[in-house]
Amino acid sequence: MTEEKKRVLITGGAGFLGSHLCDRFLAEGYHVVAMDNLITGSLQNIEHLFGRPAFEFHQADVSKFVFVPGKIDYILHFASPASPIDYLKIPIQTLKVGSLGTHNLLGLALVKGARMLIASTSEVYGDPEVHPQVEEYFGNVNPVGPRGCYDEAKRFQEAITMAYHNHHGLETRIVRIFNTYGPRMRLNDGRVLPAFLSQALRGENLTVFGDGSQTRSFCYVDDLVEGIYRLLLSDYHLPVNIGNPSEITIKEFGEEIARLTGVEFKPTYQALPENDPLKRRPDITKAKEILGWEPKVDRAEGLRRTLEYFKEHVSEIMADEVDNKPRSF
Ligand code: UDP
Repeated sequence: MTEEKKRVLITGGAGFLGSHLCDRFLAEGYHVVAMDNLITGSLQNIEHLFGRPAFEFHQADVSKFVFVPGKIDYILHFASPASPIDYLKIPIQTLKVGSLGTHNLLGLALVKGARMLIASTSEVYGDPEVHPQVEEYFGNVNPVGPRGCYDEAKRFQEAITMAYHNHHGLETRIVRIFNTYGPRMRLNDGRVLPAFLSQALRGENLTVFGDGSQTRSFCYVDDLVEGIYRLLLSDYHLPVNIGNPSEITIKEFGEEIARLTGVEFKPTYQALPENDPLKRRPDITKAKEILGWEPKVDRAEGLRRTLEYFKEHVSEIMADEVDNKPRSF
């Protein structure tokens, strides 16, 4: 008799990270239940999986109610708008999916006896005063600023997840995800990489916010997925940073994208958005020690792979016909 497959529920399964997680868990032999309300996610990201017996998709909003028949061994909660322009457009949905959605899923995990991993974020550190960011740092978040809806939803998400762990003994995992990039990022999601690549391919100037001296540290999606997979299967329940510590200023990043796409770097400077963190870099000591994980794909290679994806969609980019999500709700 063959062993029954483990079943994993992935919320946000049609999103950028969620869809890559679906691929990975299917490749590892799991039965994958993907769930998404398709506000910022897209069926294009998972259309190659339809028809596979070990894959199912449910269109649902987890902030309202969530139920999945049958056993569930693992839940990965990745449903949330994640780009600043998205969560500025839909701040209340952002707060609800991080709070009510997480509560619903923790309840489901309890009923099913499942282990739950939540997608937290480097945004819990806000505009950090500790650099690089270690997991013990409490952060510097403005709750009433424009990013508060996302940052506080994620901070609440961590708090309620810890409460379920401590109060109910639920098996939980918390990953703090730093800036991640790769194929299937929404072409116009407003984040810096899709913005710069699309602008470069259209021959436009790159929109650099502020003076471009703020830093970020970009992790290729396959590395992130590997870290998440290891964390889920580990026995460590406190937050773990997963990200690539290679830090770069946004201006230098623009120069890299220009070189990669063979255009001259011509920036158009725009105002720095309110509360935009001035620097960000993960300390990944814990991930190294506990998970034996570190990133493998450097930026040159990761950007080449991402450019391939953007080139496949170049006609949409040229026509500026990219789906202008988030949709109505
Ligand atoms: N940024 C930029 N031009 C753009 C989009 C973003 O200079 O067209 C900057 C933004 O101000 C921030 C950094 O790039 O400092 C990363 O922004 P992103 O929205 O990708 O993610 P964040 O890390 O802020 O969540």
